[in-house]
Amino acid sequence: MGLNATPGPPLWLLAELTYRCPLHCVFCFNPVDFARQEEELTTEDWMRVLRQGRELGAVQLGLSGGEPLVRDDLEEIVVEAHRLGYYTNLLTSGVGLTAARAAALKAAGLDHVQLSFQDSTKEMNDFLSHTKTFELKSRVAKIIKDNGWPMVLNVVIHRMNIDHIDRIIEMAADMGAEYLELANTQYYSWAFLNRDQLLPTHEQLKQAERKTDAWRARMGERMRIFFVAPDYHEGKAKKCVNGWGNMFLTVAPDGTALPCHTAKMLPGLSFPNVREHDLRHIWFDSEGFNRYRGTGWMKEPCSSCEFKEQDLGGCRCQAYLLANDPAVADPACYKSPHHHLVEEAVERAGSLSPARAMEHPLVFRDPANSRRLAGAAVPGTHAT
Ligand code: SF4
Ligand code: SF4
Repeated sequence: MGLNATPGPPLWLLAELTYRCPLHCVFCFNPVDFARQEEELTTEDWMRVLRQGRELGAVQLGLSGGEPLVRDDLEEIVVEAHRLGYYTNLLTSGVGLTAARAAALKAAGLDHVQLSFQDSTKEMNDFLSHTKTFELKSRVAKIIKDNGWPMVLNVVIHRMNIDHIDRIIEMAADMGAEYLELANTQYYSWAFLNRDQLLPTHEQLKQAERKTDAWRARMGERMRIFFVAPDYHEGKAKKCVNGWGNMFLTVAPDGTALPCHTAKMLPGLSFPNVREHDLRHIWFDSEGFNRYRGTGWMKEPCSSCEFKEQDLGGCRCQAYLLANDPAVADPACYKSPHHHLVEEAVERAGSLSPARAMEHPLVFRDPANSRRLAGAAVPGTHAT
């Protein structure tokens, strides 16, 4: 198995409580075929998963989705997680976080809230999510502050909002965020379908980095700004999910346990379900969690590469989406024989004017598009 021959415990348990979400983000990380995965674990199932996670050694719990607030047992789940000693994080679009619900979650012991925005203006925020949510999110930011939670604002960055980086940072500072995460889009799932319209140019990225550095110097410790570098433009693979089966254990709404939230798309791999197996077996013994753990599975150029223990060969989903083989080097890496595919996509983005980029309509994440695409052979669905 190479590195990680005896894996440590999963430090993070990510509970994807539901794929239901009132928003329709064009970069959504949920599976393209989410609409045909309607089944959800019961409250009792989640309680069992939480207990097993703590027994294994997990200390951080992410409650995400979809929109986790659409589950009316969220408070119950938080109570149990708090009792078990998790540090609990709610990842939300803000829809459904009323003052009353926030107070109930605070009383339940929720430790931390991450609120997502799509942009700094009402027009672009609402366009990208295909909903009128900007003003609601601004109210939710105040509710989060009023409850004394540390606030993380998360904004997914791409071609259509990257030039607004100054205004995005200013908005986060005005709202009193302690942390701002500027997360460059990762091109899986819905973002992969919309890649030509979302991929920024080199110049846009460099400018955004310069502006972010200037804000960092100005803000100091008042607000910490993370700029999550994009692998497409760097020629380097990133250590995806901090290593397969190394730190994160994700449980999808239907109970499928995954090393990362998009891994279900990978062909030829079976992932266990928490309804049938306990987390200890899943983490240590299942095929799904062991297949790409460590470095033993690697082929050339990774297997003899000096960086193999640093990046663990990059992302398996990206290798599959771009090179049709999950076991090859991530094509984001300049050493990959498939790297030209990434370079060509970046070049195409650089040569397309904004008007030309928009000639292909954006595909919004919604149940109708999901059902349509699930029946077609598109990357990232089980139909491929
Ligand atoms: S990315 Fe947007 S559509 Fe997808 S789960 Fe998050 S808020 Fe919902
Ligand atoms: S060849 Fe593989 S291990 Fe080496 S840098 Fe590229 S992705 Fe990482």
